[in-house]
Amino acid sequence: MNSASDSATEPFLVFGSPLIEQAEIDEVTACMRSSWLGTGPRVAQFEQDFAKYQTLVPNKVAAVNSCTAALHVSMVAANLEPGSEVITTPLTFCASVNAIIHAGLTPVLADVDPRTQNIDPSAIEAAITSRTRAILPVHFAGRPCEMDQITAIADKYNLVVIEDCAHAIETTYHGRKAGTFGDFGCFSFYATKNVATGEGGMIVGRDEALIARAKVLALHGMSKDAWHRFGDQGYKHYQVVEAGFKYNMMDLQASIGIHQLARVEANWKKREAIWARYLQAFADLPIGLPATPAADTRHAYHLFTAFIEESHCGISRDAFLDAMNARRVGTGVHYLSVPEHPYYQQRYGWKPEQWPNAMNIGRQTVSLPLSPKLSDPDVERVIDATIHSLRG
Ligand SMILES: *Cc1c(COP(=O)(O)O)cnc(C)c1O
Repeated sequence: MNSASDSATEPFLVFGSPLIEQAEIDEVTACMRSSWLGTGPRVAQFEQDFAKYQTLVPNKVAAVNSCTAALHVSMVAANLEPGSEVITTPLTFCASVNAIIHAGLTPVLADVDPRTQNIDPSAIEAAITSRTRAILPVHFAGRPCEMDQITAIADKYNLVVIEDCAHAIETTYHGRKAGTFGDFGCFSFYATKNVATGEGGMIVGRDEALIARAKVLALHGMSKDAWHRFGDQGYKHYQVVEAGFKYNMMDLQASIGIHQLARVEANWKKREAIWARYLQAFADLPIGLPATPAADTRHAYHLFTAFIEESHCGISRDAFLDAMNARRVGTGVHYLSVPEHPYYQQRYGWKPEQWPNAMNIGRQTVSLPLSPKLSDPDVERVIDATIHSLRG
């Protein structure tokens, strides 16, 4: 199994495959048998469980159908005047930037620290103008951003902070959970994320009134959700109090989430062990490896990102991706920097070279499988494929 031809007979190792267990399957079945598929008691349960895990009161969380929806609704609830500038990182999924645009705001990029891959607080401060109203940091790969410095900048310039916690369910910074530093924290339960419901998201907030508004906005702007209209308390009229969105989570999704969340720590430990094994196995390779987590922080180990610099490795990043694929190991790229994409180039005139750290990372990075579903032999297969792909 040390050559590509031998491993070609093995099943393809899908990148980011979620670990689904019997409890989720049983709960989905029970949900379907109950015939209450939409937003109802299981979403309420999932919200309560999530609040408890994040050490928040239940009124400070709101389940939605994606992190993208969470980011959008948070920015609408924050009431920023149209055209306000929101500073974010160029090294993120397009959803972070698209949510800013859909909220009627203007994205402004601030480059990342090349070591942590997180937005650089000094770059944030340099990007502030008279129109800046918010900062949207992304805890990249599960490593917390420098929240002391970011909240100090936000206080100094009176800015709203919306944390993109799509990678950061388990992340802490100086003893505090990621998502609780800003005005809003937005989480993802997309199929590849650390807690998976297929599609799903959660908003956590500092201000209960803003979370209540986010909940209304996430369900058409209606004053009462369906469970409260059609539930066992008798029909209740609702009022539409603003032009909202259709962003509510279903009980079907929450059925999966309740049991995924119950195993969040067990799965974190599995990924931590895989991470440690990769670091040990790759110590002598010419590839770049993720930085050690800073003191008094907890990394969520969402992504293991290695760097393939062609001059060191003798192979380009894209050739490495192909070589891994030939060995039937799925990989990811997180991310080509946002300004590499034509839409943003055309709309904002951005060029990747303006944010060189994010550009270089985006062109060299490769994410290796880190799912808790990986068996020990799977992990050894990834290591073997990495070593042999580098040898060409
Ligand atoms: C996955 C992801 C999102 C979007 O999450 P969805 O739940 O798929 O909408 C946003 N930001 C980052 C950094 C992500 O990785």
